Formats: sequence, structure tokens, C-alpha cells
Amino acid sequence: MLGQDVVVAYLSNEVDHAAARGRIVVSRTEADRVVSDLAGHPMTLPVDAVMTHGPETCPACGALTVQWGCDPDGDLREPIHPLVWDETEWMADSFICLTCDAGWIEPDHAEPITWVRPYWQVGERT
Ligand SMILES: [Zn+2]
Repeated sequence: MLGQDVVVAYLSNEVDHAAARGRIVVSRTEADRVVSDLAGHPMTLPVDAVMTHGPETCPACGALTVQWGCDPDGDLREPIHPLVWDETEWMADSFICLTCDAGWIEPDHAEPITWVRPYWQVGERT
């Protein structure tokens, strides 16, 4: 079976909690460099702007395979679970684990995490 894809069929969503961790603030110099690189010309962020790093580990399984929920390459065909989808922020603060399929919202400020696995809704929509 080595080298073959493994397909996991979920019968239901698993929901659990993890401790708050907060997101690491990017230094002013680094933040200006990142936006300048993205824009293709020198830029300086407003003084009240704050840039943060995304989380490095999955709160459900601990894997390092965390991806931002808004990744343009993300294949989000299935309906996203309400615990991963914010009505106003959509998936701007959402992350998914490529190892265990967990999804969660992790805003900039530290607050307890509720994760759901898989990050798409299984079964009847509520
Ligand atoms: Zn995981």
C-alpha cells in the first residue's frame, strides 16, 4: 500500500477544543518587506496595522501541515463546516490541517480553539 493515496470516508464531524495560543506578530520591518514583495514596489504599512504569522501546528493532531483556509489552491468543493466558516470573515482566520482534515478559526488575539474534523460538513446540513 506504500505510495498509494489513502481515502478516508467520514461518517460524522468530530468536534473538540484546544487551548488558546494567539498568533505571533510579525516585526514592522518584516511586515513592510512582505507587502513590498507582494506589491512589487516599496510599501510601508500604516502605523496601526498589525501582521501576524499563521499557526504552525494543528490543534487536533499536532502536525505541521497547516494551510490557510483561503489558500487559492485549496479545493473547497464540499460545504465548509459552520465552525470553520465565519459569516463576516468567511475563512480569513480559518486554517485546515492537510494531515487529519481538521479545520478551525484562529483569530489574531488568543482565544480557546474549537476544531472540527473534517473541516467540511458531513451528513445533514444544520
Ligand atoms: Zn491535524
